[in-house]
Amino acid sequence: MGWTVAAVWLACSGVQPHNRTVRRHGVGGGSGTVVKSEEEWRQTLSAEAFRVLRQKGTEAPFTGEYWNHRAAGTYACAACGQELFASTTKFDAGCGWPSFWDAVAPDRVEFREDTSHGMVRTEVLCRRCGGHLGHIFPDGPEPTGQRYCINSVSLSFRPADPKPHAPR
Ligand SMILES: [Zn+2]
Repeated sequence: MGWTVAAVWLACSGVQPHNRTVRRHGVGGGSGTVVKSEEEWRQTLSAEAFRVLRQKGTEAPFTGEYWNHRAAGTYACAACGQELFASTTKFDAGCGWPSFWDAVAPDRVEFREDTSHGMVRTEVLCRRCGGHLGHIFPDGPEPTGQRYCINSVSLSFRPADPKPHAPR
């Protein structure tokens, strides 16, 4: 329903948002699209991951696995495995959630207007699977000035040097 309203608004105003691509669910980028039913997601994700990724929940601040995580590596989508954020763009925003000033590539994420909870925010989703990651705010550090405020449970960390031959 919200999409219809947005489409009508865009058509009337003639505004062409350049960085907020309006996409219908299932239309992905070049990296392929992962489409599963909610029941399939429920079976593959933990209860908390399902609540956040599929039901747009938010984990409590300072409780997630990565808010204070500083190792070098890449943060991938916990649902579909697409790499989303690099540790080199992670910074401490003091908010209790992992914060990044940029995504690995612009086509990894998707933005949507979110007017829930009486606020106007921009939701960040994984473009590959449509999973809810968190929100983006324009109060981040240089060079982008953006702050991706992401739920830990939506992410899966991959160390830069996994040392595959390390003894167990
Ligand atoms: Zn994903």
